[in-house]
Formats: sequence, C-alpha cells, structure tokens
Amino acid sequence: MTSLPLTPVNLDAPARRAAMPPRHLADLDLAGRQALVAELGEPRFRARQVSTHYFGRLVRDSGQMTDLPAAAREKLTDRLLPTLLTPVRELTCDGGATHKALWRLHDGSLVESVLMGYPDRVTACLSSQAGCGMACPFCATGQAGLTRNLSTAEIVDQAVYLAGVAASGAVAGSPPRLSRVVFMGMGEPLANYNRVVAAIRRLVAPAPEGLGLSQRHVTVSTVGLVPAIRRLASEDLSVTLALSLHAPDDGLRDELVPVNQRWKVSEVLEAAWEYAARTGRRVSIEYAMIKDVNDQPWRADLLGRLLAGKLAHVNLIPLNPTPGSRWDASPKPVEREFVRRLRDAGVSTTVRDTRGREIDGACGQLAAAEGDEIVGPGAP
Ligand code: SAH
Repeated sequence: MTSLPLTPVNLDAPARRAAMPPRHLADLDLAGRQALVAELGEPRFRARQVSTHYFGRLVRDSGQMTDLPAAAREKLTDRLLPTLLTPVRELTCDGGATHKALWRLHDGSLVESVLMGYPDRVTACLSSQAGCGMACPFCATGQAGLTRNLSTAEIVDQAVYLAGVAASGAVAGSPPRLSRVVFMGMGEPLANYNRVVAAIRRLVAPAPEGLGLSQRHVTVSTVGLVPAIRRLASEDLSVTLALSLHAPDDGLRDELVPVNQRWKVSEVLEAAWEYAARTGRRVSIEYAMIKDVNDQPWRADLLGRLLAGKLAHVNLIPLNPTPGSRWDASPKPVEREFVRRLRDAGVSTTVRDTRGREIDGACGQLAAAEGDEIVGPGAP
C-alpha cells in the first residue's frame, strides 16, 4: 500500500470534561437501587418492583407500573428511569431481520445500536462510547474522534431497548428474545473499562437485577489495549474476547490500528492467549479484508503461523468502505484464498455476514451520515 503518515495515538490525553447523563437504575446494582429508593423516602422493595418492570418486562413507562402506588410512580420513574436515549432514526432492512437505532444522548451526542436476528438467536451490537479515540483509518467512528464515554446505563439501556424490540416479535424469522450482545458498535469498550464491565455485570445478572444474558454470549471487541485485556481476564467474568487484529505484521498494523504503536502484535496476542487460558474461551480474531492492503497470501500464511494451535477463531469481515474512503473490500476470490490458507494452517475461520449495509448498518456510518446533516453547511 502507499505509505501514509502514521496516526499518532495518545492514550493519556485528558478528555474534555464530559457531561455525563443523570443516574439511572442500570448504573447501580440492586443494593444501590434500594439505597436510592430509601433516600427518596420509599420502601426499599420498590427498587425490586421498578427493576422487574425494566429488566424483567422491558417496560419503562410509569403508566404501565400499576403495582406502584400512583402517588409514588412519577417520583420513582423520574429518579430511577430518566430518559437516556432519544431515538433520532430507526431503520429496518434484510427483510426485517436487522434493525438499527440512532440515538441522541442528553448532551446531543449521537450513538447507534443494531439488532440482528438469525433463526436461532438475536444479537444486539452496542456502542460503548460516543465516537472513538483509537483513530483506525478504515473505521467511520475512528475518523470522528472521541466525544465521551457512555455511562453504564447508557450502554445497558441500548440492550434493554433492543430486547424490547425483539420481544415485540419485530425481528423477522427469529426467536422473540435477545440472546447475545456484542460490543462492536461505536467506541473502544476497554477504553471505558469500569463502565463497560459494570454494564456487562448488569447484562448477565438474572432479572430483576439485570437482563439475564449468559456470560459467554457477551463479546467484548477491542483494538488491543493490553493492560485492560489482562485486567478483564482477572474479573470473575468469562465473556468472549474479540481482538481487532487486521494485520499480522507490525508495519501494517501500526497504520491500520494505530494503538499497535504502543502494543505490538506479539504483545497483544500474548495477552489474548492469556485471556483464553484464564477463561477457557476461544478468542475471536477480527480481520477486515481490505483490497491490496492486508489481503495478500503471504499475510494469510503469516497469520496462520501466529494462530496455529491457539484457542482462536478468525472472523474475516469484508471491509465496509466508509464514505470517501480510498479503500475497498477484497474481491471474493482473494477472500476465498485467504480463508483456504488459514484453514490449511489449521486455523478455524469464517467470513462474517454483512448485515445492514443498505442502512449504513456497520461501523458508525449512520451516526456519521446524520452528523453531517446536523453540522454540515447550512445547519442552524
Ligand atoms: N473498538 C472496538 C469495537 C468497535 S468496531 C474494536 O475495534 O474492536 C467492531 C469491529 O468492526 C472491529 O473489528 C473494527 O475494526 C471493525 N470495523 C470498523 N470499521 C470497519 C469497516 N469500515 N469495515 C469492516 N469492519 C470495520
């Protein structure tokens, strides 16, 4: 590829003081909610009642909470369930199997989530930050920079909302229950570590404390923040780790995933194998197939050598070109050859389906398009 100036990455840059949203019950565990309810002068068991509506029945409208005394309903829902996400746009494609939501947060930031239905499961793709600071040049979110971290509840609320969409039977050809969550929307989840881990705890806690998903059905995708991968391995969680590798060699990965300038391929893979050993879970290696950039047969062979014999699975993602990008997806024969070489090396490999393309379904593109409209020339 033509060589580009490397994007400098500064992980220590202080974020501008971010306007965080009001506190919501999903920010707290059940004990914390009970304490909050007591502060409001209500009996502690109201925390469980409101939590059952929200996580168990996917109801957030006080009018439907008829087991709460009318006089206390508004006060409880105002304090426990403030509106965090306001829908800006909701789109459906793939014959009703893919739903995408674009949200405006209380400070005007835009984030998106996607719900994908399959015959045996329904997966929600969540955002963990408004924007992203990791600056990967092929990613729409990476181009926009980081606005702020999402709060725990802003993350959880995306899942609860999408679980409600699934429960309504709106996902064509799929069971009416959200079963998986992937942190593959906007943002770098491990750069918002504490809030993301708290969100995972809510997602996997049984109702009414949380949404009751299985830990192994939650996937955290990362550019490869090595200390945070190690820290995640030491939590009492065994969620699936996805590592956005995209290149097997440091020369190219320094460019495609600029954080590689800090933690090299060998270090990030070492951390991934440590994660696999600690959790017993296979690590998913994400690799966007970019025409004439990272799709050469020699790179497939090198990747195969790095991964052979490891607890790993390769997920090839046909590049979804961002608007104005000079990069394109690899041609199918090139992709097939890449898969063949990895499999010959004994590495389990699949090619990801490309859901939601016609609704800018992947990778921050809906928010990017909407943002252009809002801040573009002629905007008020
Ligand atoms: N920051 C995290 C999670 C968000 S992106 C991470 O990087 O892992 C989820 C996945 O989509 C990552 O593997 C990311 O590299 C990939 N991705 C981003 N933009 C893409 C694009 N234009 N085409 C294909 N995959 C893309």
